[in-house]
Amino acid sequence: MKTIALIAHDGKKADILQFVNDNKAKLSKYKLIATKTTGKLIKEKVGLKVKCYMSGPMGGDAEIAALVANKKVDAVIFITDPLDAHPHDPDIHGLMRVCNVHNVPLASNIATAQLILSSETFFR
Ligand code: PGA
Repeated sequence: MKTIALIAHDGKKADILQFVNDNKAKLSKYKLIATKTTGKLIKEKVGLKVKCYMSGPMGGDAEIAALVANKKVDAVIFITDPLDAHPHDPDIHGLMRVCNVHNVPLASNIATAQLILSSETFFR
């Protein structure tokens, strides 16, 4: 079973919840992991099973980066808020970097997340 990581900055939590809700049936076929607050919201508001790691600012992005580096994650949907400052900026860049090092699909906005989910190649 493929694993998808779901993360959203606070200003984008509503967007990722809408996206997950709209794609609930498809996402239910995959193992979902998330940073703490994002995962908690997905469980509560959408009802999907999600394995939660630490909150992003507490090291959750770095934990997920380690999983990506170990080939344990097949796609990362990380909806970033470019209009806000983040104390964990180095971790955010680290996660994105490791996705690019290992050629793991990475969506930083909903339009690209939707494209990944529509990809027959990825979801075969
Ligand atoms: P959160 O972390 O899901 O715990 O809010 C996300 C982030 O800010 O990277």
